[in-house]
Amino acid sequence: MATYDYQNILETIAAEVSPLTWQGKVADYIPALASVPLGKFGMSVQTVDGQTFSVGDAEERFSIQSMSKLFTLTMAFRLLGDELWQRLGREPSGNPFNSLVQLEYEQGKPRNPFINAGALVVTDVLSSHYVQAEIAFLQFMRKLTGLTNIHFDTVVAQSEIATSSRNAAMAHLMKSFGNLKSPVDIVLNSYCHQCSVTMSCEEIARAALFLANHGEVPMSGERLLSVSASKRISAVMLTCGTYDAAGDFAFRVGLPAKSGVGGGIVALLPGEASICVWSPGLDENGNSLAGGKALELFTTLTGRSIF
Ligand code: GLN
Repeated sequence: MATYDYQNILETIAAEVSPLTWQGKVADYIPALASVPLGKFGMSVQTVDGQTFSVGDAEERFSIQSMSKLFTLTMAFRLLGDELWQRLGREPSGNPFNSLVQLEYEQGKPRNPFINAGALVVTDVLSSHYVQAEIAFLQFMRKLTGLTNIHFDTVVAQSEIATSSRNAAMAHLMKSFGNLKSPVDIVLNSYCHQCSVTMSCEEIARAALFLANHGEVPMSGERLLSVSASKRISAVMLTCGTYDAAGDFAFRVGLPAKSGVGGGIVALLPGEASICVWSPGLDENGNSLAGGKALELFTTLTGRSIF
């Protein structure tokens, strides 16, 4: 199917998932996320040859939350290469994203970079390299989108910090095993700021386009990751990117993807396009309910997936 069909497909998807956008439950662990209304839906497809297709609330910014983990992993991979995996696994966890249980018997080595413990190690890698890892992250997101007006939501960041006992527990446990180098509060502060960044579907899809283009930013020709490193990150997205539902997601959607509790999911159609969908109502695993269905419809209607 040619890329010019994407607009029609997005509109069909938006109409079909509309009832679902009112279902699910918005993340309510902090007030700023609890107040986001149900009923929102946006989706954007960016092709590696420079086309953008969007529908609904694709230009409205929302909290990227755990989608930040994809970009911090890219930054850490750029710094350490495969050495990164000495501190971090790459297996699905089979547990909720904020679970502590595996950390104890796996000697402080998180199962993968997309659960919170893994993202904290990734942030620690960045904290060892940058004076303020969160600023380096913001600059990376600005560079990927070509936009200077990408910001933290400081209200969200402060609420995240104020309610970060669980993440702090993980960080301390990992530090006790020697798998966190920087002070816990530095790592937590940076992690909470990364999660608080607000971006739209169009902006996130654009930021992730280099991964769909095997590591090279199509607009500038800049290579951010080797083909092999890009493949590896995409593989971890497929197996670990949607929390405890990654198996079901691969089964239903068939694309590497990373979700966040703000209701966003970013997915890759390797060699062709990046896709970002947003709808804040979440399912029981913390993935966007309408967003997951929208991606499922996308691969069904286009006949495209990685399989
Ligand atoms: N800020 C959230 C947390 O650390 C991110 C969770 C998520 O999107 N899965 O709990």
